[in-house]
Amino acid sequence: MSTVASFQVAASSEADPEAVLRWAYESFPRVVIVASFQAESSVLIDMASRIRSDIAVLTLDTGRLPQETHDMIDRVRDRYAIEVQVVTPDPNEVQDMVALNGTNLFYGSPDLRRLCCSVRKSRPLERALAGYDAWVTGLRRSQIATRAQTPVVATDLEHGGITKIAPLASWSAEQVWEYVHDRNVPYHSLYDSGFTSIGCAPCTRATQPGEDARAGRWWWEQGEVKECGLHWSKP
Ligand code: SF4
Repeated sequence: MSTVASFQVAASSEADPEAVLRWAYESFPRVVIVASFQAESSVLIDMASRIRSDIAVLTLDTGRLPQETHDMIDRVRDRYAIEVQVVTPDPNEVQDMVALNGTNLFYGSPDLRRLCCSVRKSRPLERALAGYDAWVTGLRRSQIATRAQTPVVATDLEHGGITKIAPLASWSAEQVWEYVHDRNVPYHSLYDSGFTSIGCAPCTRATQPGEDARAGRWWWEQGEVKECGLHWSKP
């Protein structure tokens, strides 16, 4: 298939995730999967590891992750025999933020929560992506309204114009879990405790039946967009 034709296949809104990943590895010398170690990450790492053995995976260790996420990182590392680049925030930025606003500043106001997400997530990601040509994310359109228009392939102007790839953009939660169970892929243990979206420990709780999948994220906030800033910026 020509380069143009394979791009058209990859970029179509209903593209097959495995075809998209294959295209990404053929098209860019430095591709990284940015993993939160939720179920979508499990799928992407499993798919990618079937394409090649030397996949690059990075994750953001905010310093506030639940122990179960660290356990999950190790399980994936062992299962696929891969390295996981664990990216941490700038300690001076964290120290200054906490000195001014307290350790649990995120409960104080939406702006303080966004500041914490910026220092612990967005800024470290920005630094980490500087070494790559393309990044792969587990975003899905059906996760939340702010992701409803997620393209499979886009130019990421917020990260130096590298390519941002969302192979699972068109998938439903059911498709993700079907893949996980069919292939016996490791998944985050907090799903078995009622969590439907998993982030930092103080900012995530389990959800009740009938609640939105992201209702457990920053649950104390009213009327705020449940995004941390990695994929969405406040207008
Ligand atoms: S999710 Fe909570 S603890 Fe984690 S970076 Fe955002 S505000 Fe900070």
